[in-house]
Amino acid sequence: MLTFNVNIIKTVNIIGSGIGGLATAIRLAVKGYSVTIFEKNSYPGGKLSELVLGKYRFDKGPSLLTLPQLIDELTHLSGSKNKFKYQQLNTITHYFFEDGTQLKAKKDIHEFAKEINLKLNEPESTVIKHIEKSSFYYNIIADIFLKQSISKPKNFLNKRTLKGILNIPKLALFSTMHQQNSSAFKNPKTVQLFNRYATYNGSNPYKAPALLNVIPHLELNLGAYLPENGMHQITTHLVDLAKELGVQIKYNETVEEITIEKNRATGLISNTNKYESDLTISDVDINFLYKKLLPQKYTPIKTLAQEKSSSAYVFYWGIKKEFNELGVHNVLFSNNYAEEFSCLFETDEPYFDPTIYINITSKKCRNDAPIGSENWFVMVNVPHNKFQKEIKYADELRKNVISKINRILNTHIEQYIEEEAILDPFGIELQTASFGGSLYGNSSNNKFSAFLRHANFSNKIKGLYLVGGSVHPGGGIPLCLLSAKIVSDIIPNNNN
Ligand SMILES: Cc1cc2nc3c(=O)[nH]c(=O)nc-3n(C[C@H](O)[C@H](O)[C@H](O)COP(=O)(O)OP(=O)(O)OC[C@H]3O[C@@H](n4cnc5c(N)ncnc54)[C@H](O)[C@@H]3O)c2cc1C
Repeated sequence: MLTFNVNIIKTVNIIGSGIGGLATAIRLAVKGYSVTIFEKNSYPGGKLSELVLGKYRFDKGPSLLTLPQLIDELTHLSGSKNKFKYQQLNTITHYFFEDGTQLKAKKDIHEFAKEINLKLNEPESTVIKHIEKSSFYYNIIADIFLKQSISKPKNFLNKRTLKGILNIPKLALFSTMHQQNSSAFKNPKTVQLFNRYATYNGSNPYKAPALLNVIPHLELNLGAYLPENGMHQITTHLVDLAKELGVQIKYNETVEEITIEKNRATGLISNTNKYESDLTISDVDINFLYKKLLPQKYTPIKTLAQEKSSSAYVFYWGIKKEFNELGVHNVLFSNNYAEEFSCLFETDEPYFDPTIYINITSKKCRNDAPIGSENWFVMVNVPHNKFQKEIKYADELRKNVISKINRILNTHIEQYIEEEAILDPFGIELQTASFGGSLYGNSSNNKFSAFLRHANFSNKIKGLYLVGGSVHPGGGIPLCLLSAKIVSDIIPNNNN
């Protein structure tokens, strides 16, 4: 009798075309699965999308790219000839303090240390030592916590991981980031500068573990990058790769339910149709995944109750003037950082003198603004919108932001604003379904947060996997891309 080895192609439904959803789609298509992405919006990318106002183009969310190699890896895996083009920034950030102190973080850490020594009177060797510690932390944690699931016991049985685990006591788990920074540096401005890295995952440096001092390593040792056409190019590039691999993306399809039979995910129901699949991947914030798409009996109450990361209030301004003192990334510090974070995480109010971040991609991407003008993305950290209500503080916040910019840059910025749009926590939630507009899922304000993030799979529902900023290993572009890699590593090739 003749037997045929028929290879049945398994199907995967992915909910959400955020960076985590797109990267997972690419990886699973390469593994031989037939992949469909369901996206509620009419465009891809979730938080990583773009906005055009008159003659100005803006990246709507993320502005800083680190570890671009993770995107190159996807290009390489997919076998595409379509190259992802980006440049490394020579000057990473321009810092401004209220007393007139200004300094620039250069890509060369020795130049940066010299600048800190000159402006803030900190020994160069102290700065270098601090940045080296950051790199030491990264080398210990990357393999254990960032590149694999920490919910699979077998992952802890290899030599590298065991070696990393033996080094855990060196990670200063019992000091906060602020404690470690203030014992390293004598000038409070240097402490503030290094404390700011806690905001890279929406956390509070006065509560977050010193382990978060790993973040400067990514930016200062490995580099800050900008794609050739701005951050949105990450989304368009991943969409192109996915399409080349045959991934289908269905826009305007809001998933309303994940269908479950005998504790196995069997498909989904959207606003238009019912779709079966062998596997289901959620790139949706876990709060909405469990509260809206799954039966209540599966809800992980403790995980959902964890403190959320901060949110953001963003002004997109078309500015009809060029400011030579500004670069791509600019930070105008508040005078009292401790008070600012206490407002963000304890009293749940925006601070009256917020630290302001200004991103200007037109400094490098000339088509993003008309000649003689600049596209300003002006962002302040605000609490996530716990009660999910419309924002009341908008007018006051705008006034405070304008007056601080005018003070520090010695200008009258209002007269140069020719286009304006805003994005507040309410809008972030509406557009991307992240709870209360939190930017990075749960905060890392507690020493166990790295261990408490939701795993990349459901241990109660077979065939359901989770990616994106609200699950392991965390929020931000690099970690979302790593979450996709972890999920794809857990799922066997289609023909296995
Ligand atoms: C203002 C701002 C600034 C940021 N700055 C940086 C930065 O500089 N650097 C950095 O690395 N990161 C930054 N981040 C964080 C980064 O953007 C996120 O961590 C990352 O993009 C999240 O990707 P994700 O895969 O979790 O998906 P998301 O971007 O959260 O997208 C989820 C997608 O799922 C879709 N969806 C949700 N529910 C459904 C449903 N029921 N049916 C169908 N589709 C659904 C949504 O429409 C959305 O498209 C920033 C974020 C914001 C908002």
